[in-house]
Amino acid sequence: MQEKLRRLMIGRYGMDQLGKFLSWTAIILLFITLFFRNRIIELIPFFILIICYFRIFSRNINKRYNENQKYLAYQNRFLGYFKNFRTRSMQNKNYHIYACPTCKQKIRIPKGKGKICITCPKCKAEFVRKS
Ligand SMILES: [Zn+2]
Repeated sequence: MQEKLRRLMIGRYGMDQLGKFLSWTAIILLFITLFFRNRIIELIPFFILIICYFRIFSRNINKRYNENQKYLAYQNRFLGYFKNFRTRSMQNKNYHIYACPTCKQKIRIPKGKGKICITCPKCKAEFVRKS
């Protein structure tokens, strides 16, 4: 049985991160669609599963590989956004972020120091802000 499966998969693409993402999406949607009594909505998770299996058994490995790379790039951007969001909100507690009025360079100023004169590290322009 395993030998048969192995032979079936020769020259085929198989599972990747995008495949896993699609199958999980399909499973989650399957649960969500239980609450809808709509035939068309119910078909969406099956449609996603079909795409998923089509990719696994596809012989066009290059194309599937590129799809996965694109997916990974999106995923990185998405996760990166949330990571940035966390560090940004942590920074907001202790720092003000001001943009230099001349060159728009972002400058981080510690909070609670009253009115201070800020010198832009990039263009040396000076401006006063409340910290
Ligand atoms: Zn500047």
